[in-house]
Amino acid sequence: MDLHVLLTGATGLLGRAVYHDLQSRPDTRVTGWALSRASGDIHSVDLLDFETVAGKLQSLRPDVIVHTAAHRKPDVCENDPDATVKLNVDTPRHIARIAAGLGTRVLYISTDYVFDGTSPPYRPEDPTNPLNTYGRSKRDGERALRETGCDYRILRVPILYGNVESPEESAVTSLLDIAKASEPKNVDHWATRYPTHVEDCAVVIGKLICRWKELGTILHWSSDEPMSRYEMACAIAEAFSFPSNHLIPASQPPPGAPRPRNSHLDCSELESAGIGRRTPFKVGIAKALERFVVSKK
Ligand code: NAP
Repeated sequence: MDLHVLLTGATGLLGRAVYHDLQSRPDTRVTGWALSRASGDIHSVDLLDFETVAGKLQSLRPDVIVHTAAHRKPDVCENDPDATVKLNVDTPRHIARIAAGLGTRVLYISTDYVFDGTSPPYRPEDPTNPLNTYGRSKRDGERALRETGCDYRILRVPILYGNVESPEESAVTSLLDIAKASEPKNVDHWATRYPTHVEDCAVVIGKLICRWKELGTILHWSSDEPMSRYEMACAIAEAFSFPSNHLIPASQPPPGAPRPRNSHLDCSELESAGIGRRTPFKVGIAKALERFVVSKK
């Protein structure tokens, strides 16, 4: 019998890749939920409307819920903690409570920002210590899920990029503007990040759902290429043959919400299970941005 997966956030950066991957699997049937960008097969369901969500979950009775919807921009979250808590903490708690009653499994997507970045690499059981509102809300979302007693898995991932609707959609692809600028640009060389392709995460999620019982409750997936934003901008410049001598490495913490310096995730559990895929950054970023770069040929 087909596995029925309900995917929240199906129009988001990660959700689109997961929806596409799940749709391609012969044994899986996927229902996608989103909000402002819902169209076609993706249903518009406001997750903050708890009564409607409860009714729809009772009638759909999916086998698994993959919950990706969240507020995920740290500076936006810092300025609106109430809205952040509603979507990132209260909503997963509500979904997980209903799931517990239905016997539905819940996969909650979380972040490396639950860690403070002072002692990488981080294993799933390491103590969390988020530095900003976004990281705290995702940590509290994890806790809320656990408290409901539902059958859950938490998958933490770091900074994501992939098939973007516009370069601004991801903090990685948004470096295109800086990479192609002609005037000098200071770019963060203080923090080490592990830019991870959403299609690689989607493959991990697809396998994790099928091998649920074999795996621990908290899992990590990440690329294995450490890069500062300065190094990412240089890689973008190289991919499109832009000069890079205007890029200046900045060694001070960047302004805005405090961020971890290096929250590298230890992925050994999924690696030993043979689950995972890693797209090399220079391949993934060139593909993600090629349609936004005017060819000089
Ligand atoms: P995203 O691109 O911002 O997408 C957010 C999704 O949530 C959209 O589909 C949006 O729908 C939906 N949504 C927002 N408010 C909603 C509401 N009230 N009701 C229903 N749906 C709502 O996010 P993402 O980058 O794909 O992130 C996915 C997950 O990965 C998040 O849990 C995030 O914390 C985690 N994560 C992301 C990154 C990253 O770099 N992006 C890094 C680490 C972890 P509409 O757009 O249709 O309104």
